[in-house]
Amino acid sequence: MRASKLFVQTLREFPNDAEAMSHKLLVRAGYIKKLANGVYSYLPLMQRVLTKVSNIVRQEMNAAGAQELLMPFVQPAELWQKSGRWQVYGKELMRMKDRHDNEMCLAPTHEEVITSVVDGIFGSYKQLPVNLYHIQLKFRDEIRPRFGLLRGREFIMKDAYSFHTSQESLDEEYENMAQAYTKIFKRCGLETKMVQSDSGAIGGSVSHEFMVLVDTSVGENDVFYCEKCGYSANSNHAVSKLNDEETDGGFDKLETVDTPNVKTIEELSRFFNINKNCILKAVLYVASFADDAKGNPVPDRPVLVMIRGDKEVEETKLMNAVGALEIRPALDTEVNEYLDTEPGYISFLGAADKNVQVLFDNSAKGMKNFVIGANEPHKHIGGYNLSDITENDIKGGKPEFVDISLVKEGEKCVDCGDSLKVTKGIEVGNIFQLGTKYSKPMNALYTDENGKTHPYIMGCYGIGVTRTAAAAVERYHDDYGIIWPLEIAPYHAVVVPVNTNEEAQMKLAEEIYQKLLNAGVEVVLDDRSDRAGVKFKDADLIGYPYRITVGKTISEGLVEFKARKDAEVLKIAPDEAVERVTAAVAALK
Ligand code: ATP
Ligand code: MG
Repeated sequence: MRASKLFVQTLREFPNDAEAMSHKLLVRAGYIKKLANGVYSYLPLMQRVLTKVSNIVRQEMNAAGAQELLMPFVQPAELWQKSGRWQVYGKELMRMKDRHDNEMCLAPTHEEVITSVVDGIFGSYKQLPVNLYHIQLKFRDEIRPRFGLLRGREFIMKDAYSFHTSQESLDEEYENMAQAYTKIFKRCGLETKMVQSDSGAIGGSVSHEFMVLVDTSVGENDVFYCEKCGYSANSNHAVSKLNDEETDGGFDKLETVDTPNVKTIEELSRFFNINKNCILKAVLYVASFADDAKGNPVPDRPVLVMIRGDKEVEETKLMNAVGALEIRPALDTEVNEYLDTEPGYISFLGAADKNVQVLFDNSAKGMKNFVIGANEPHKHIGGYNLSDITENDIKGGKPEFVDISLVKEGEKCVDCGDSLKVTKGIEVGNIFQLGTKYSKPMNALYTDENGKTHPYIMGCYGIGVTRTAAAAVERYHDDYGIIWPLEIAPYHAVVVPVNTNEEAQMKLAEEIYQKLLNAGVEVVLDDRSDRAGVKFKDADLIGYPYRITVGKTISEGLVEFKARKDAEVLKIAPDEAVERVTAAVAALK
């Protein structure tokens, strides 16, 4: 490819609507162009990167025994009604009507379609297991499309779905996919961490995410990990062992204490002169739900969370615990309405008839003689114990414990007791055990050896192709531009004649270019008549892994050779430069 013909325009400035470095660089270096919020054209350089990522994915999925197919992007609502997700998917599902007034949607994912595809084709246990995948566009009307390709509305995903007759067979395939994923990301030049995660809207029980660790906020996930034993989990799933020894408030009796305007955990801790973990914090949430099976709306419901004072609520865990679609902290007016008291003094005391669901975080379990709100303005109770709970407070008189708290850095690993650390991560892929979550409601069945029918046991496995490419940029760049891993760079090398008017320079540059092409190297010849400085800047911005510069030193029989990731510039013979690039490219295959 000759730079004079390459369909690219590099910009002098970063776009001003971009936060993430990958977003800024991909726009400025001419890889993507925005069409609408979260919707981009992938220009030729980007398309080459995406093709490479897709091909690596394809090769490894095929090698792992999966088969590629392609499924529709526009889907009928009926299928989604069958699985029950039409009601629960919320606004991310882009819905529309066709000319016959049929309800349709743009595919955010394909569990429903693949289940309907396999059903009736592979109906016998003899044909299973099978793993089918596709690489294609998905559309999600994300609430906050941002960070360019990292969170778009339209994006490219590889999605695979496996069908089994037993849990053991699913476990085996899950492991097989985990290994394939590790290979895929490694071949894309990315190191990933496989972490336990929440299964979210997709359902199922076991799931893991593959994270590219970064140290900026574009890593939308907090990953907690243990260096000693390797435990790692997304914050929406992470658990820790708590230090219970200091959770005795030290009161010798139960007492109601006037606490005028003492409301926050901080203030209470000072007022009573006790640690925060001796206060049982109450937080009121309002949960909203999907319509019921008959399509009738389900009213919002208040949920009172009781959690140790030094801990915070993890809202995804809470949402799962109450089976809600969405959850938000209650407004002050709602606190009055639902609990008939003022914020700052609330608790479950005397609230059994108030129709508020009460959930205790596991962190409350080990607490003794603690402080809680009296559920009356300007009063708290000291020296409370869980055994003091009565039927007046909570229906049944027994607290319901769940894990709904956020782990904190430094808490102990559940597996080995060592200190947990935290880092940010970009989720580039994930794997789920779905079980019969889709096959059951959709009545997708196989026949076993005795002629009996059962719903398929399923797994699903996604990789964000566009997000993976953007994550590579996020991970590998400097002040001058992108530093592509050779594996997924749009071109392997650029040859830059310093002065295109110098015949000898152009001639040698052409020769090097031809030799590289003949050796199978993907190379750009920067034949533009611009100043060398401009060409170097573009080369750095675009991020070609190797640059061969043909300038004045050719009189000594030398060219300049520079790897994008190294600062060093070598002066070597042209053939040696060709040889170096060729060898690096050959080592990829
Ligand atoms: P996230 O939690 O980041 O929204 P998800 O759990 O919704 O991701 P899946 O539905 O499992 O993701 O999709 C599989 C993969 O598709 C993700 O691991 C991610 O790499 C990619 N992906 C998901 N949403 C987007 C998006 N809005 N833009 C780009 N890639 C995405
Ligand atoms: Mg999502």
